[in-house]
Amino acid sequence: MVAEDRELYDRLLTSFARDADDVLGQLRAPDIDGISIGRTLHRMRGSAGVVGAHRLVQATIDGEEALANHALSDRQLEGILAEVEAARECALQLAESGISVATDSATHVTEPTPARSAPAAPEFAVRVETPSVAGADGAAAAPERRATVLVVDDNATSADFLASALRVEHPVLVANSGEEALRVAADPEVALSLVLLDLDMPTMHGLEVCRRLKAAPTTARIPVLFISASRSAADEEAGLDAGALDFIHKPFSPSLVRARIRNHLRLFQYEEELRRASEVDELTGLANRRALNEHFDREWRTAQRTGEPLALLLIDVDHFKAYNDALGHLAGDECLTAVARVLASSVRGKTDGVARWGGEEFALLLPGETREGVERVATRLLEAVRSLQLPHPAPVGGPFLSVSIGGAFRDTKDRRNPDALLAAADEALYRAKDSGRDRAVISGN
Ligand SMILES: [Mg+2]
Repeated sequence: MVAEDRELYDRLLTSFARDADDVLGQLRAPDIDGISIGRTLHRMRGSAGVVGAHRLVQATIDGEEALANHALSDRQLEGILAEVEAARECALQLAESGISVATDSATHVTEPTPARSAPAAPEFAVRVETPSVAGADGAAAAPERRATVLVVDDNATSADFLASALRVEHPVLVANSGEEALRVAADPEVALSLVLLDLDMPTMHGLEVCRRLKAAPTTARIPVLFISASRSAADEEAGLDAGALDFIHKPFSPSLVRARIRNHLRLFQYEEELRRASEVDELTGLANRRALNEHFDREWRTAQRTGEPLALLLIDVDHFKAYNDALGHLAGDECLTAVARVLASSVRGKTDGVARWGGEEFALLLPGETREGVERVATRLLEAVRSLQLPHPAPVGGPFLSVSIGGAFRDTKDRRNPDALLAAADEALYRAKDSGRDRAVISGN
């Protein structure tokens, strides 16, 4: 809990009162049509949800529902207007008194003073906690401090309150619609670490936004937390089913939202580390076999679609067992690392197609290369490994370490699976070894 939260609440209450003023003006306009009434009620509902004016929230929900059924009477609208007015009065008094009505949080409750108590009518549930010991938030937050959070809310008051509450700890971006949120999330310049998503938004519903984020490979892993005034268990379940990790209810306590975000970010970072560890070969830093297999599948499907060539090279260190036995495992590891560096530099940046296939064997995927191109790469690799000039106890040609390479092209008529290509490359590697090693054999068309 930080002291700024107190100020934040006052600003929120004032902003709510301004919203309420605006809404009263609009709903009382003589020429207002049904669509505008609906929009205005929805906006009021959003703002009322953030300050916890539950009766007003319910009144607007009932009003929107009646409107949808063409059954909103003048009397009901008058009732809503009275509710808006009462909530507005209450907010102004609370902001002025500097004391807010608290709810169920026993340790942090500040009761309204009897002398300046809030009007009884609208039941407010804004939670205000007294600032706790300084630094309690800060120390724990350190590792996630620079993680960018995207706040998505169609209600400006709500978005502003949430963003202000989170800016204490994180860089925050705000989107006022689902469409905007998807644009921000897909922007490669923006590295989002978490999305706080409003559920009920007019043009694109929060559930749809969440599903789309989860369906796109570049945004699927970003944690999504719903934040909504909805009290419905069905809404909460739908949100979690759509892929969200959590569901936070409005009105919310800024310090609790911050704490939850910290926890989710920490989990997210662990997950990312685990994912990286599961895809990377520890010794060489190259992709491991598992990661290459996934990459292979993707490239295979792309090649099927585009008709572009796809080649696979398998690279095997010659007489590695003898090398290891004579020079020791440490030298063996250094040799593998050196060969890995040669391979990685041979593909210029597109390193996701290079992998340690296992033991002393490496694999290299070459999409879109002609036969001449693939042969050039193979020749370059043979030379680059030789020029490492690692003395070999059982050399093949010269005195230094060498590799054998087997390569194959995807058969454009073969629609089965990548295994055929792998088998062909393996067969070519066998031939390269069988015919004297330190050479490349590329088979296929
Ligand atoms: Mg909303």
